[in-house]
Amino acid sequence: MSAGLVQAAYLVAAIFFIKSLAGLSKQETARAGNYYGIAGMGIALIATIFGPSTEGIAWILLAMVIGGAIGIHYAKKVEMTEMPELVAILHSFVGMAAVLVGFNSYIDPPAVISTTPADIHAEHVIHLVEVFLGVFIGAVTFTGSIVAFGKLRGVISSSALNIPHKHKWNLLAIVASVLLMIYFVKADGSMFAMLVMTLIAFAFGYHLVASIGGADMPVVVSMLNSYSGWAAAAAGFMLANDLLIVTGALVGSSGAILSYIMCKAMNRSFISVIAGGFGQEVSTSGSDEDYGEHREINAEDVADMLKNSSSVIITPGYGMAVAQAQYPVHEITEKLRAHGVNVRFAIHPVAGRLPGHMNVLLAEAKVPYDIVLEMDEINDDLGSTDTVLVIGANDTVNPAALDDPNSPIAGMPVLEVWNAENVIVFKRSMNPGYAGVQNPLFFKENTQMLFGDAKESVDAISKAL
Ligand code: NDP
Repeated sequence: MSAGLVQAAYLVAAIFFIKSLAGLSKQETARAGNYYGIAGMGIALIATIFGPSTEGIAWILLAMVIGGAIGIHYAKKVEMTEMPELVAILHSFVGMAAVLVGFNSYIDPPAVISTTPADIHAEHVIHLVEVFLGVFIGAVTFTGSIVAFGKLRGVISSSALNIPHKHKWNLLAIVASVLLMIYFVKADGSMFAMLVMTLIAFAFGYHLVASIGGADMPVVVSMLNSYSGWAAAAAGFMLANDLLIVTGALVGSSGAILSYIMCKAMNRSFISVIAGGFGQEVSTSGSDEDYGEHREINAEDVADMLKNSSSVIITPGYGMAVAQAQYPVHEITEKLRAHGVNVRFAIHPVAGRLPGHMNVLLAEAKVPYDIVLEMDEINDDLGSTDTVLVIGANDTVNPAALDDPNSPIAGMPVLEVWNAENVIVFKRSMNPGYAGVQNPLFFKENTQMLFGDAKESVDAISKAL
């Protein structure tokens, strides 16, 4: 394949990627968005593998078969609830790839294109800076993503790591890396400086994400998504691959926009979160406070309550995903709508463990899009609702976010379900949610707890209906 044809193919692939992002921004077009992405990546792979500067095609194909087989195996096996972990670990691969590409490009630099001595020097300096920055971003992304993976999987505590003078350590890491970069360029490249900076960047990435508390994890996940994009763009510069630069920039900037949206949704300062929880006080408010007694209800009584309601709002959360309760939830929605009950869904922007997690589950169960509303669209209607079903949600319906300034989730907008006439909470125990704080909602007079696995509970209600 000629170089011109490869560039043309890259251009087409880039357009497909842009159409993919546009498609993924709406539920109705998300499937088409995925197909555009697959098509773009297919074209990009073919153009790269059969391009004029590619050598060792057999090795590439072998690596693709092995990598593809592992990918297919895990993609088939992974549960929907494990998706955030999978995304986090995939980000770590992008980070490590940028580190390896950086070292490779340093050891075996690309051929010089410039002709005059001044231009050759400038090209060389730019290459050194690209390598240094690429390795730095990649290393931060690598360890940061590993920590995010650990926190989401529950193998690392989801609470914030608070080592003394943590912000000073972060600042020191950045200053040391900048000084090392200056030395690296002045010394015309130095493996020692590269290695020291890589170790610092690994530690910096670890600390940055470890310092962020559980409730702020949604921002971290989208932020690492953004970092992985910039790491890929950096690799694109080092490999002089235009498509990788474009794709990396698309991922980097869309991830940054998503992080910003998540921060707004959670009423957090963007800068404070990306700086590793800068400016956050350590919150002490917790699960020990005595909120009084809770009341319990059974599935049959919930079914009666629903039959006598004219408006019902369902607020799903992570527990619905764990229980895979979306299918029976759709079933009861249809039964109630057939009885003339106005059923709608209220989606909190950080419900579940992945941006859009609940929307995906509900779409999978074929819940109509027009009754699935975002928090801002429906919060005011909760006060005039007869019954709210809180299915596996906890932090996203916690009034402590508004009432308790010392709570780790203080300031986060929540679904104000307690304003409804009746609230039924589906969960298995009185355990707190992801942020580790008790929920005063469970003890309110108009709240009743329906204990048990959410799928079994919803199935029982469906039967009784
Ligand atoms: P939470 O994670 O706060 O709570 C989920 C609840 O579901 C738990 O209280 C649990 O209680 C219950 N549950 C678990 N399994 C079941 C089951 N099988 N049947 C019934 N109930 C079950 O949920 P939310 O969705 O309200 O909040 C999401 C949290 O995750 C927020 O803190 C958010 O910041 C964080 N997060 C969100 C991300 C995102 O991008 N959306 C990414 C990372 C973190 P019990 O054990 O008693 O059953």
